[in-house]
Amino acid sequence: MRVTVLGTGTSTGVPIPGCSCGVCSSEEPRNKRLRCSIFVEDQKGSGGVLVDTSPDLRIQALRSGITDVKAVLYTHTHADHVHGIDDLRSFNFINKRSIPLYGLPEHTDELLRKFSYCFIKNTAYEGGAPPQLELKNLEPAETLSLDSIEIVPLLLHHGSARVLGYRFNSFAYLTDCSHIPEESGAKLRELDVLIIDGLRERPHKTHFNIEQAIEQIEILRPGRAYLTHMSHEVDYETTNTMLAQASSIPIELAYDGLTLDL
Ligand SMILES: [Zn+2]
Ligand SMILES: [Zn+2]
Ligand SMILES: [Zn+2]
Repeated sequence: MRVTVLGTGTSTGVPIPGCSCGVCSSEEPRNKRLRCSIFVEDQKGSGGVLVDTSPDLRIQALRSGITDVKAVLYTHTHADHVHGIDDLRSFNFINKRSIPLYGLPEHTDELLRKFSYCFIKNTAYEGGAPPQLELKNLEPAETLSLDSIEIVPLLLHHGSARVLGYRFNSFAYLTDCSHIPEESGAKLRELDVLIIDGLRERPHKTHFNIEQAIEQIEILRPGRAYLTHMSHEVDYETTNTMLAQASSIPIELAYDGLTLDL
């Protein structure tokens, strides 16, 4: 299985347009963060599933050579996770098939409301072919599969909102969360690799900060862990130096373009 990390930035991305802080003006390539998404495939180049459609989807697909999206697994419907939805058209054109989109019922409802042109045929609509997409409700008790990969959706809390994390065999991806319910934690044991929300050092109402992310990693005890969804307050080099001392479990910041072969 190959996991490609397509983006690791918070909702604004990093650098933030107009910001001249040290991280935003840094030359370090790993301080440049597109909006959060990953791509998971059975084998490199076999086609796979996209987690979320970030506003940066087009450039992410070009950078990582993605040509076949078999499904999209949504975590939730905040703008930074959804608004690249129209860029799925490219994969419709290339692969000549529609793409199923999975999410909790409240997520598919909101996608239908906000992007009705993708789902409801409008014969009066001229030009600019809409994407060919199908909404599929997913409940945390269900599992999906992609080739040899078992996909387990996991209910998480992002403030008071319900969000899905996903386990893929021995790898799990938990972005945008501030609480992991016990029944989800029970499905996160014996992981080789965990990617988890770690927004910044200061606390936040709807995201784990770095200290809370480390606490969760210590509870779940994966083989190794990476943080994602970082703001411009997080400098790659200095934070990684701190993380190297923080736990007996290896923890690092994820970065755009990171690939994991599992
Ligand atoms: Zn987000
Ligand atoms: Zn900045
Ligand atoms: Zn969010």
